[in-house]
Amino acid sequence: MSATETAIASAEAHSAHNYHPLPVVVASAEGAWMTDVEGRRYLDLLAGYSALNFGHGNRRLIDAAKAQLERVTLTSRAFHHDRFADFCTRLAELCSMEMVLPMNTGAEAVETAVKTARKWGYRVKGVPDGMAKIIVASDNFHGRTTTIISFSTDPEARADYGPYTPGFEIVPYGDLTALREAMTENTVAVLIEPIQGEAGVLVPPAGYLPGVRELTRERNVLFIADEIQSGLGRTGKTFACEHEGVVPDMYVLGKALGGGVVPVSAVVSSADVLGVFKPGEHGSTFGGNPLACAVALEVIAMLRTGEYQERAAELGDHLHRELGLLAGGGAVEAVRGRGLWAGVDIAPALGTGREISERLMEERVLVKDTHGSTIRIAPPLVISKEDLDWGLDRLRAVLSA
Ligand SMILES: *Cc1c(COP(=O)(O)O)cnc(C)c1O
Repeated sequence: MSATETAIASAEAHSAHNYHPLPVVVASAEGAWMTDVEGRRYLDLLAGYSALNFGHGNRRLIDAAKAQLERVTLTSRAFHHDRFADFCTRLAELCSMEMVLPMNTGAEAVETAVKTARKWGYRVKGVPDGMAKIIVASDNFHGRTTTIISFSTDPEARADYGPYTPGFEIVPYGDLTALREAMTENTVAVLIEPIQGEAGVLVPPAGYLPGVRELTRERNVLFIADEIQSGLGRTGKTFACEHEGVVPDMYVLGKALGGGVVPVSAVVSSADVLGVFKPGEHGSTFGGNPLACAVALEVIAMLRTGEYQERAAELGDHLHRELGLLAGGGAVEAVRGRGLWAGVDIAPALGTGREISERLMEERVLVKDTHGSTIRIAPPLVISKEDLDWGLDRLRAVLSA
């Protein structure tokens, strides 16, 4: 057996089969490239679902992590540590908001957003106890906890995990009328992704996000933007909401916030909203730890210059132009997205998204399928134009074979 086959066989024997990875075993990576255990190099067009916006082994992030590893890695929030205040201040600044509540994974940050909205609803808005409702969108992806999958519309994500958490109302994504009709005086929040990543990089109709903003403001409801995947440069702006000139009441961040080095997530909002928490009412052992803060501070510093956002916008225009040409040819049915982020619907006759991904892997390009015949393209923002073009050439080769 090859080194690849041996590694995959042991992984299958000893890990739960809750993923179906492509048959490649990565041993090292740098920038937009990964090298497998047999020395083959692959172009990474997934970037860890956008956790790796700044590329593999980013020098600044690795140096920041190493320096912090030598000083202190964990204190718990029982004590202050010397990276915490800076992290919260800088992140709040980046978001033009006031307060930060750090967690680790995206799902934990979404859970935090849900708890915040409910507590705000009872303590500030005056919703009767136990009556708070949060409106979410169909085809959402917000994570994998029992509460979060309770408001998923994806049977795969949801089946056999009941009983489900009540208190959520699902309306069609992009439909303002349905949203307006779903709102009651007990609605405390609308939780949406400004672009739905896992659903296939679905961009809502123009005017939807401003409409959500207006409706939520009118009805004294929190607008929570889950920017865990869309945020931090991916779409060509710091936040996807900015494309529509919208400022939500709360950002939920994760993935790229930890630079692909450590899990870092956070809820960022106003003092009115995050001010609802008193000591002991919420927390996390690892949330806001010194190592996480040190890496995230470097991420924030990199985003502050705007250069990654600019790069994502420029290369993204190029990506969408090239994919648009493919869409004219019959092999591609639709292309969606913004910046360096695209959902590509392949003509089903050419294969499932999985099959296309496997063929691309043979061509040394790594992508991930979503549903049906859709693949997504989301390279690290540090990818060179030449490498991106090489990847697009491989895609054209696979689609014309
Ligand atoms: C990935 C993702 C999450 C969940 O993040 P985890 O770190 O996997 O828990 C939540 N929301 C969105 C939009 C995501 O893309």
